[in-house]
Amino acid sequence: MIKKIVSKNFDIKDSHKLKVARENDRYSSLKKLFSMSPEAVLDEVDKSGLRGKGGGGASAGAKWKLIPNPSDKPTYLIVNADESEPGTFKDRQILEYDPHLLIEGIICSSYAIKSNHAYIYIRGEYVFWAKRLQTAIDEAYEAGILGDNVLGYDYKLEVTLHRGAGAYICGEKSALVESLEGKRGHPRLKPKQKEPEWFFDCPSVVNNVETISSVPFIIKEGFEAYRAYGTEKNPGTMLFGMSGHIKNPGIYELEFGTNMLEFINKIGGGMRDGKKLKALVPGGSSCHVLKADELEGITLDYESLKAHGSSLGTGGMILMDETVFMPKVVKNLFEFYHHESCGQCTPCREGVSWSDKLMGKILDGNGTKKDLDTLLSLSFLLNGKSICVFAPSVAFIIDSYINKFKDEFYSLVK
Ligand code: SF4
Repeated sequence: MIKKIVSKNFDIKDSHKLKVARENDRYSSLKKLFSMSPEAVLDEVDKSGLRGKGGGGASAGAKWKLIPNPSDKPTYLIVNADESEPGTFKDRQILEYDPHLLIEGIICSSYAIKSNHAYIYIRGEYVFWAKRLQTAIDEAYEAGILGDNVLGYDYKLEVTLHRGAGAYICGEKSALVESLEGKRGHPRLKPKQKEPEWFFDCPSVVNNVETISSVPFIIKEGFEAYRAYGTEKNPGTMLFGMSGHIKNPGIYELEFGTNMLEFINKIGGGMRDGKKLKALVPGGSSCHVLKADELEGITLDYESLKAHGSSLGTGGMILMDETVFMPKVVKNLFEFYHHESCGQCTPCREGVSWSDKLMGKILDGNGTKKDLDTLLSLSFLLNGKSICVFAPSVAFIIDSYINKFKDEFYSLVK
């Protein structure tokens, strides 16, 4: 169940310091990396089946292959460290306990896409983690691990850490790139065909911290070693989080395909104070909620969660016990999404605001059955009519919570 690839060094004292990191394997993949061509490195990552771990689960290799080769423009790797999804706190564990693993992953990934400059876009509120990461970057430059000749090899790599200003939507990759270009963090329209991200019109790859941190293992041990864990369609491991009313909250690295209930009961220790589990969201607040009696047979992978009507998302699970009143949860979520909508699309800007206002009215005891019907109809307006997946996430919340906990919502209205 537990398999430590990315989190291997988390428990080692001072693992964030370069000296300790190097004593514990960090940068040991680079000798092999530079004995391979960039194309061979990309092929290795593609064959490993590595999937993005920031929420979407897209194939990393397929994404990297969208970069033209050769490219007549500079190429860029952009690391998404803007982790802001409620219930998600895994990337910051890497930044805190093993920032050199991320830097090593950046070197491997940048080399594969022939990039000489990588950017890390970090969430504005992550002040401690930004400082820690910058210290590690400075150490790496000083030791010749970054800069003109990476560890003496004929390869140049600059790494720039950029702090966001604290907007949830900048975790969406195209909004992140806009923000990094110095503009407002507005998501871009999706192209009709698959394309790389365009950073100042240059082809670029955006992947999150955990995805990039998984690459050194694949390079050092080979794609088959990575595929030895997890499932056919979900190879390897992922950092899964548990928060809420669970006895042992935290981040645990598990093989994909681990049974969800075993994870909750054996590693999580079950619910606190002898209470019963009422419901959970499996991967951040944007996923459909699942009732406790829907969890039987679910395994922690993209396909299983989808087949059970939700999604794996970021793997940040929020568990709620039997005392939780769902209308209050929904109001709390609406306040968050209302605040964070970037306002570009009318259905999202107006729909999320109306959802929040209606839910407030209902919770205050002034709502009618018609208000709840209106709320349910807003879900239709929010789904599939916007530039990014933010608005559909709010539709998922409306649909899943109100339909699954009807009695609680209808008990509030006249
Ligand atoms: Fe902005 Fe919402 Fe439209 Fe996404 S769906 S672009 S957050 S207004």
